[in-house]
Amino acid sequence: MSDVELVLRSTRVITPEGTRPASVAVSGGKIAAVLPHDAEIPAGARLEDFGDDVLMPGIVDTHVHVNDPGRTEWEGFWTATRAAAAGGITTIVDMPLNSLPPTTTTANLRTKQDVAAAKAHIDVGFWGGALPDNVKDLRPLHDAGVFGFKCFLSPSGVDEFPHLNGDQLTASMAEIAGFGGLLIVHAEDPHELDVAPSNSGPKYDDYLATRPRISEDVAIRGLIDTAKRIGARVHILHLSSSDALPLIAAAKAEGVKLTVETCPHYLTLTAEEVPDGASEFKCCPPIREAANQDLLWQALADGTIDCVVTDHSPSTADLKTDDFATAWGGISGLQLSLSAIWTEARKRGYSLEDVVRWMSSRTSELVGLDDRKGAIAVGRDADFAVLSPDATFTVDPAELQHRNRVTAYAGKTLHGVVRSTWLRGERIVADGEFTAPQGKLLERNK
Ligand SMILES: [Zn+2]
Repeated sequence: MSDVELVLRSTRVITPEGTRPASVAVSGGKIAAVLPHDAEIPAGARLEDFGDDVLMPGIVDTHVHVNDPGRTEWEGFWTATRAAAAGGITTIVDMPLNSLPPTTTTANLRTKQDVAAAKAHIDVGFWGGALPDNVKDLRPLHDAGVFGFKCFLSPSGVDEFPHLNGDQLTASMAEIAGFGGLLIVHAEDPHELDVAPSNSGPKYDDYLATRPRISEDVAIRGLIDTAKRIGARVHILHLSSSDALPLIAAAKAEGVKLTVETCPHYLTLTAEEVPDGASEFKCCPPIREAANQDLLWQALADGTIDCVVTDHSPSTADLKTDDFATAWGGISGLQLSLSAIWTEARKRGYSLEDVVRWMSSRTSELVGLDDRKGAIAVGRDADFAVLSPDATFTVDPAELQHRNRVTAYAGKTLHGVVRSTWLRGERIVADGEFTAPQGKLLERNK
């Protein structure tokens, strides 16, 4: 223990075995030991005592649209990773679309990595994209270290990232399963979207009717059938429809290799509360009714839903018009995700240990980073959030680090103030003061 450089002490340290008073020894940026609270500090080590503030693993958010390069005016690596750090997030995995180029070839991946390298305040990994015409690029992308492949079953919202039809889905899924990769899917059925009402205007109910639950349910049913046939590992992105939960539970019980995520906006915001014209609440699939939300929480609790990620997908303010039909669809919530989820979780009787499981441990497992991230345990990276769980703050968009300060959470009072965030044993932000970027670019199995 002579090489311990730092000891982090708290009366509430969240470990895989539970929450307890402890001192966490850090050596070479990794957790060297989890010691008793009153353990003697090794000679030469610095002590940081957080008192009763909670020391928890940094959040690992596997669904973030950074948009850099190409749509950097929407969000970039500098702003996204600062916002993430301010919110207790220490790792993000960037989605392959909304940047230009999209991450659909190894050359494009290199372009993105080059842009991200100097701007990353936290660790950043990349998803690849599965398009109708890039099956040949999937294996090289896998070998280059992407964590899996995203596809759409209906239009994505940007022309350069077309969706897959049924045959193309089968071809991509079979290719990815062949090398043991992971396919992650935006599951809304294009036919069900076509036959739904095509409303426009400022009324949220009209928008909700354009993206009914059945479009998710039908897509998920087909996806499960295909995954079962191929034996592929598939992850359902941003589940919103609670009607799909029985299908998912049955598939999991049957042994289909299926995981599912949902997002803070589906778990903390409801259709009933969206004001007319407030397209900062627009996303696809949409925020649904309160009764739907209750069922999503139950599914999280019983494991039908595995994890919670932001799907942070901002745009410039001018694209958030008051017409729900044409406004950009995407919710900006990266910096607020931990506090938003914790606020609702505590109200519903869940613990911070549950939140850590949903937002850090399970997401790390999803992308195979659970040897490095997602727990306060010996050998993992010394990535932490220090949280005052009972302190509150009111969301002031002006204080957000996102490039565009448009948020559906404006004016909400949230529980859980992030006091500081630590990456490999370095405090990267405290009280709004950031260090120079020291995030690393992550690759699968490296
Ligand atoms: Zn997304």
